Amino acid sequence: MKIFTQRYKREFIEVACPKCKKTQIIYVPEEDIPTCEFCKIKMIIKEVLTEGKY
Ligand SMILES: [Zn+2]
Repeated sequence: MKIFTQRYKREFIEVACPKCKKTQIIYVPEEDIPTCEFCKIKMIIKEVLTEGKY
């Protein structure tokens, strides 16, 4: 039996601040791309760390 009701593939994404290079791991689609707490600018996607491969 499939317990697979989510439409979206859930992924961890590593984001980085382009200015101070601080990185953070977020979980999409539940989290939005964060803003750097020091620079107050939007962080950029650095790497997609795919979890559920199929
Ligand atoms: Zn920053």
